[in-house]
Amino acid sequence: PNPRRPLTDPNLLPWPEDADVRRIDYKEPVVNEYREIEMFASRGCPLACNFCVVANVYYGGAGSWRPRNVDDVTGEIAAMKKKYPEMEGVFFDDEAHNGRKEFVIALCRSIIDKGLHTLKYNAMCGYWNLDRELLEWMKKAGYYKLRVGIETADKDVARAMHKSQSIKKLYTALEAARDTGIRVYGTFTYGALGSSPERDRATTSLIKDLLEKKLLYDMQISICTPQPGTPFYGSCAGEGAITTFDWQQYDGGRNVIQSYKHYTATQIKEEVARARRVAANAGGPRFRDADFSGVLSAIPAETKKLLLICSGPRWQTRALLAELNKRPGLEVHLLLRPDPDDDFNGLALWPFGEGALAPERLPSASRDGLRRESYPLALVQINHNCGDASDYADVFRVAESAAARWIAVDIKGAVRGAAPARTER
Ligand code: SF4
Repeated sequence: PNPRRPLTDPNLLPWPEDADVRRIDYKEPVVNEYREIEMFASRGCPLACNFCVVANVYYGGAGSWRPRNVDDVTGEIAAMKKKYPEMEGVFFDDEAHNGRKEFVIALCRSIIDKGLHTLKYNAMCGYWNLDRELLEWMKKAGYYKLRVGIETADKDVARAMHKSQSIKKLYTALEAARDTGIRVYGTFTYGALGSSPERDRATTSLIKDLLEKKLLYDMQISICTPQPGTPFYGSCAGEGAITTFDWQQYDGGRNVIQSYKHYTATQIKEEVARARRVAANAGGPRFRDADFSGVLSAIPAETKKLLLICSGPRWQTRALLAELNKRPGLEVHLLLRPDPDDDFNGLALWPFGEGALAPERLPSASRDGLRRESYPLALVQINHNCGDASDYADVFRVAESAAARWIAVDIKGAVRGAAPARTER
């Protein structure tokens, strides 16, 4: 292969294409809470975690962090807001938005000076330099959420990952964020190099504690996946731990690729499932804010049978079922992607497989079964509470094909998108 070229100065790059595509249409709805346009204020990362594709494959190692000129960043924000008045904020999808504290403060100053602090900002950050001074600047500039890579509670796992870690610093940073009024979305990973059931369980205990202390607003639990080209892949291959070369399975969320002698793929999967259960039960503020008590009043009293389309997280499914079960005589069937942890005993289940849910992708047995059942009403789970649910268009088409009428409920419990009754079936 050719040698790597020197890292590009991000100030030489043009703003992203916005003539043929509309950047406002590329919002990320699940974690972003506003209509946000994605931007990069910097490129690269000071670190090089052993599993990270960005640091290791794109940029060739640690020390790749490069900031943009802050006035150019705020110029881009102002231009987008002018072009799309409906824009509510910006998602800085940098690898490490806060690569340098002075850079973020300068960016905050520029945002405030240009009157752009009325927008909402959300950014990918490390917790290494999140102190009160920085967080107060960010709050003043309109930042409402930071996504922070925490990954593990265990020092040895962090060391094996090549990730700098200090639990004390983490708590200090998260307490400062909570006191400043900035939400934190934490990310955690299981089955990393050096992990074990005990070490990953320590991470689960950390998640529980952070949620209970309201230091996390929301979180993501992923499976550490040895992507080819990373040192993690090399280590796993070296110890014969790679179990498949079916790249489709390298998804980081459902499948475990590595099986260590002391910690098998099955055990890793069990620890991930356990962590997700503990997290759902501990419930971050985002979960606790949800209130599904209004759902029943949106369901006509004469409804005897309902199809619940499980296109949101399982905790939301369970919360909805608990609510629906309060209506005597209401029979609930589920359309869902089966999960080994499911415990929906006694309910009629229509399965769908991997990939996005759409009428064309339904297995024929489920499609035919739904048609036979002829549901009067379908209830669609939406996994966010953005005003715009156009990202669920395919799921709504499934609802239309399966039921005479459908309603949707968002992640906070608001009922919306009630479709008029269809005149024909
Ligand atoms: S901190 Fe994040 S972006 Fe940086 S190397 Fe680690 S995983 Fe990659």
